[in-house]
Amino acid sequence: MNELIYLDNAATTKTSQPVVEAMLPYFSQYYGNPSSVYSFSGFGKEAIAKARGQIAHVLGANPEEIYFTAGGSEADNWAIIATAEAYQDKGKHIITSKIEHHAVLHTCQYLEKRGFEVTYLDVDENGTVDLEQLKESVRPDTILITIMFANNEIGTIQPVKEIGEIAREHGVLFHTDAVQAFCHIPIRVDELPIDMLSASGHKFNGPKGIGFLYIRKGIKTKSFIHGGAQERKRRAGTENLPGIVGIGKAAELAEETLKERQDKETGLRDYLIGRIMEEVPYVRLNGHRTNRLPNNVNLAFQFIEGESLLIMLDMAGICGSSGSACTSGSLDPSHVLLAIGLPHEIAHGSLRLTLSEENTIEEMDYVVEKIKGIVKRLRDMSPLYEDYLKSH
Ligand SMILES: *Cc1c(COP(=O)(O)O)cnc(C)c1O
Repeated sequence: MNELIYLDNAATTKTSQPVVEAMLPYFSQYYGNPSSVYSFSGFGKEAIAKARGQIAHVLGANPEEIYFTAGGSEADNWAIIATAEAYQDKGKHIITSKIEHHAVLHTCQYLEKRGFEVTYLDVDENGTVDLEQLKESVRPDTILITIMFANNEIGTIQPVKEIGEIAREHGVLFHTDAVQAFCHIPIRVDELPIDMLSASGHKFNGPKGIGFLYIRKGIKTKSFIHGGAQERKRRAGTENLPGIVGIGKAAELAEETLKERQDKETGLRDYLIGRIMEEVPYVRLNGHRTNRLPNNVNLAFQFIEGESLLIMLDMAGICGSSGSACTSGSLDPSHVLLAIGLPHEIAHGSLRLTLSEENTIEEMDYVVEKIKGIVKRLRDMSPLYEDYLKSH
């Protein structure tokens, strides 16, 4: 068994070896600026065109609908801010959900300070948006619906097709943050009513600092980074050539293995959830039981602090993540866990484990044993647990 059991793939993934190898020549061999005229820069131009094609192929898009960015956050900012600017004559109302990634939520808040109005949709106890509430929220001045494909904390997959259909019926644009979903579950923009979609290389075994925004042909948008003519004058700046080659390669590899990875991860996920729910008392599963990302496990353990659990798991060589935002200097539990209705004290005891296809059943067994021991030890020290036992 590995010395390190990495179960934080929603935070980032390992750049796979074939991706690294595909990138290497573009650092010091084919380093020409793709915008230059001499033939030496042609290697870069060709590599970018190839990567754009690889991404478009997975997504069912046209290559010219793919715009490279410096990651998922930039793609989200671009989709929301540029749409707001381009369509503000039509209206200044945007609809999103309460469980979006901060790259979406904070961008919406930024626009609120600049005269836009934002509706934040509720989600049910599984983290699914309410389609009726969405329909009721659409107004004549609504210009954009931005709702994530799948949630990064609890893994719940949204009814994206239905959301897109509602957007179409009302002539409103639909953007989806698919950073957690792209290359993990099938997504085809030729089958789904999606107008814009964000994704990020480092969430599917590509490099960090590279992502893309898909913009359906015919949609009015504005340049996001001003300067040179790169990315059809929409996103200036010398291209991140090795990064672009890497994200293209990662998408190609992910496409080849999608089905087996999905099956393997779902198997490991359900095994881990099943064993913990059965063998540890006072635990609940956060997120939808079945309609969730294949690799996402999120559990709330009553009477303990997720942070303490994480530290003790770390000492056992296990990397996970908690449901609170302590790492960002705040003691508030995650906005996602509060939105699904968890009381603060239960949200604080949440643990997110996100798997990859490299994990094994033996690792899951080890993780279950460690969690059982640690949860018991932490509860034995917990005054809350003692009070609870006395009163029951
Ligand atoms: C990671 C993540 C992002 C941000 O992507 P970066 O490439 O790290 O900027 C945005 N949205 C979701 C859902 C994510 O999981």
